[in-house]
Amino acid sequence: MPLGNLAPKLTAEEYDKNFAEISPQMTRSHAISEAARCLYCFDAPCTKACPTHIDVPAFIKKIYTGNIRGSARVILEANILGHSCGRVCPTEALCEGACVMNLEKKPAIEIGRLQRYAVDHVLDNRIQLFHAAPANGFKVACVGAGPASLGCAAELAKWGYSVSIFDKNVLGGGLNTYGIAAYKTRAEDSLREVDLVRQLGVTFCQGVEVGKDITFAELEQQFDAVFLGLGLGETWNLSLPGDDLHGVVGAIEFIEQTKTKSFLDIEVGRRVACIGAGNTAIDVVTAARRLGAEFVYLVYRRSEAEMPAFKYEYELAKRDGVIFYWQTQPVRVLGSNGVVTGLECVRTRLGAPDSRGRRTPELIPGTEFVIDVDMVVPAVGQRPVTEILRAVLGINLHKDGRVIVNAGYQTSHPKYFAGGDCVNGGKEVVDAVAEGMAAARGIDQCLGCPRAKN
Ligand SMILES: Cc1cc2nc3c(=O)[nH]c(=O)nc-3n(C[C@H](O)[C@H](O)[C@H](O)COP(=O)(O)OP(=O)(O)OC[C@H]3O[C@@H](n4cnc5c(N)ncnc54)[C@H](O)[C@@H]3O)c2cc1C
Ligand code: SF4
Repeated sequence: MPLGNLAPKLTAEEYDKNFAEISPQMTRSHAISEAARCLYCFDAPCTKACPTHIDVPAFIKKIYTGNIRGSARVILEANILGHSCGRVCPTEALCEGACVMNLEKKPAIEIGRLQRYAVDHVLDNRIQLFHAAPANGFKVACVGAGPASLGCAAELAKWGYSVSIFDKNVLGGGLNTYGIAAYKTRAEDSLREVDLVRQLGVTFCQGVEVGKDITFAELEQQFDAVFLGLGLGETWNLSLPGDDLHGVVGAIEFIEQTKTKSFLDIEVGRRVACIGAGNTAIDVVTAARRLGAEFVYLVYRRSEAEMPAFKYEYELAKRDGVIFYWQTQPVRVLGSNGVVTGLECVRTRLGAPDSRGRRTPELIPGTEFVIDVDMVVPAVGQRPVTEILRAVLGINLHKDGRVIVNAGYQTSHPKYFAGGDCVNGGKEVVDAVAEGMAAARGIDQCLGCPRAKN
């Protein structure tokens, strides 16, 4: 069944332009002149602000002296996904936000782009920097092939563990491959990093859903420890009348198409409303505009001040011509012949702060109005996929489904460790990698294996 009105198709050149890299690769001269601006601070606040604590001044200095391979080594030792993090990290909120240049009202050093410059060099030239240590006889399974498991698996393989990753998707990389906006990184970029981990001898079992195609009991029998890097599930439903109409599409499902299909083959409405104001909502509205939707609305029940998206992401949506409906609560999806035709909304006022300090929206009676749309995309968070762990393994979970872990990322079941979105509730790639690496250290300590460094 087609949508009510489809966005006009663009030419191949227009799609290429719209989804071109937002932060393209630096030239050699640009990288060297940018590296020369760095003060190589002794207490490097940029390094402290990075969840994987990459030694930023060290890698930048190596770029300046022309040792690009050495620079990449510094980055990848701390973060095996340093390539994607150079492209997708919210650097303005992390390393670049902490750069001392900000205090002098000068532009922060472009750490993300310098990082990408160095790692691109080793990936483009197929330079293998790391090797697995001799086998130590221990076997570890990782469930999920997203950033958390990749970080965990790479560390363990470098120390001599035999690691197998099980993932239900066809391709590895998790949301890095399937979720992050195409103008930041393409699936091919993420897969190059999956290959870096594969080169360390890690086995990838793609298309295998744990709990269905292989049981947790089987993993327990076959492996000495299991790391859970399950991530989060699909987008929450709207739970509004009309949310089953054709044209209501989950945010993750919509974005996934931009990573796995030709842009020409993606069905997008002429008028699209996205509900929510987090970073995922921004990815939806910018993707819809860049795919050719003429009117794209972001509908949020709180005010602009409460918007959870990063400022940089918000600016992107503004530049793309997205229309914002603040303090607006959707109440019903309207349709005709089973297809979306509009979104009925009501205005809100903000009441007292809730337990998290966010002001609670209250509906203002009599302010109902309709936005004419052909597509509605809820981006109101992702469902946890962890209930299976409570049911099958008796692993303790928080009320919202996050896995409870101790300081070594071990769960309440001593054989299981966990990290990434399924533990932190949904942060960034760099946090997932950091937690996966911390869990690797926890597994290593728990199994008491003398570590052989490569
Ligand atoms: C739309 C969107 C845009 C984002 N943009 C950014 C961004 O710009 N920058 C940034 O840093 N972060 C971004 N993020 C966040 C980032 O993608 C995540 O924080 C990160 O991918 C989490 O890694 P993870 O390994 O914990 O989970 P995931 O990447 O979700 O990987 C989990 C994997 O587990 C698999 N799995 C789940 N259950 C099973 C099972 N039972 N059996 C086998 N496999 C299973 C899944 O198939 C998946 O491959 C974005 C997230 C979304 C949703
Ligand atoms: S804070 Fe800025 S100037 Fe100082 S080391 Fe880090 S990137 Fe260089």
